[in-house]
Amino acid sequence: MVELAMSIAETASIPIGAHLSVPIKVDDERIFGTFCCFSHKPQPELGERDLDLLRTFSLLLAADIAADVSENRARRAAVENIGSAIRSGDPNLVFQPIRALNDGSILGVECLSRFATEPTRPPNEWFAEAHRVGLGAELELLVARKAISFCAHLPASASLSINISPNTLLQQGPLTQALSGFDPHRLVIEITEHLPVADYQSIIDALAPLRAQGIRIAIDDAGAGYSSMRHILDLRPDIIKFDISLTRNVDRDPIRRALAAALGVFAQRVGTMIIAEGIETQAELDVLREVGFYSGQGYLLGRPKALDEIFG
Ligand code: C2E
Ligand code: MG
Ligand code: MG
Repeated sequence: MVELAMSIAETASIPIGAHLSVPIKVDDERIFGTFCCFSHKPQPELGERDLDLLRTFSLLLAADIAADVSENRARRAAVENIGSAIRSGDPNLVFQPIRALNDGSILGVECLSRFATEPTRPPNEWFAEAHRVGLGAELELLVARKAISFCAHLPASASLSINISPNTLLQQGPLTQALSGFDPHRLVIEITEHLPVADYQSIIDALAPLRAQGIRIAIDDAGAGYSSMRHILDLRPDIIKFDISLTRNVDRDPIRRALAAALGVFAQRVGTMIIAEGIETQAELDVLREVGFYSGQGYLLGRPKALDEIFG
């Protein structure tokens, strides 16, 4: 019999005949709460072994709670970090020229984000984190609005490509709004996909009104990552971006060369344009031209930079 327990009103009113209770300690120190068992009837046989069992349950519970607490903490930190990046003016935008492979003329530019906020990391990691915490669409729409305002004086012959993930495509109203104010026939949405697409039909539906306006669709990083062949079959892109990993050493690797040639024939058959990504050497460029590619991007043709550095 515990005198203190007997003096609590609920002991009689519930009534509580027996009671075991152990603390739940999270991170070894902090008491998160108590783990209790009640019985209406007295259980005088309860003893240290029963308490030990309860302590084991409490440890399991504590581990679960600790995981939740640290996930929430990490999520809050990520949201805060992305928020403070945006408040400080991030992301800055740079643009990489897309050139005709025969004469080097500029066909368009791809907008790429740069973050000055710590931690220093590539833009795809910022976007991946933003998507994880539910801010991906917001960040991509911000980039779209910025890109269009930066490109108000882009030469009329040049297109503007913006990276957009399927998730953001589903935000039709805000996306259409963000893309307004730029000639849709000069706009390209690069579908940037780092997670499997769950529902193709909803993406096809979301793309329809954008395409009806004249906006073109590119499949980014084709040949790498998740189901890009499925993207090509289901989304019927206007443009296929031949991934950097296929361009690399295409001049030295007969298999890559064969793949490039086959894709060149495929693109011609279905009336799709191919843009080779990541061209770094003249030898790579020569082979891609030979197999029938007309356009490309890469350090050889121009690094991502400010627009006035590209167009003077
Ligand atoms: P991406 O859209 O495929 O962009 C091409 C990436 O390859 C860019 O990296 C570009 O700087 C890099 N690159 C271009 N030419 C060469 C080359 O010759 N050699 C090498 N080694 N790399 C080259 P970046 O800017 O670091 O972007 C990486 C990825 O981050 C992008 O891949 C895209 O998936 C994502 N990303 C960047 N900016 C944005 C954005 O504004 N929105 C979204 N949603 N994603 C973005
Ligand atoms: Mg891209
Ligand atoms: Mg790409």
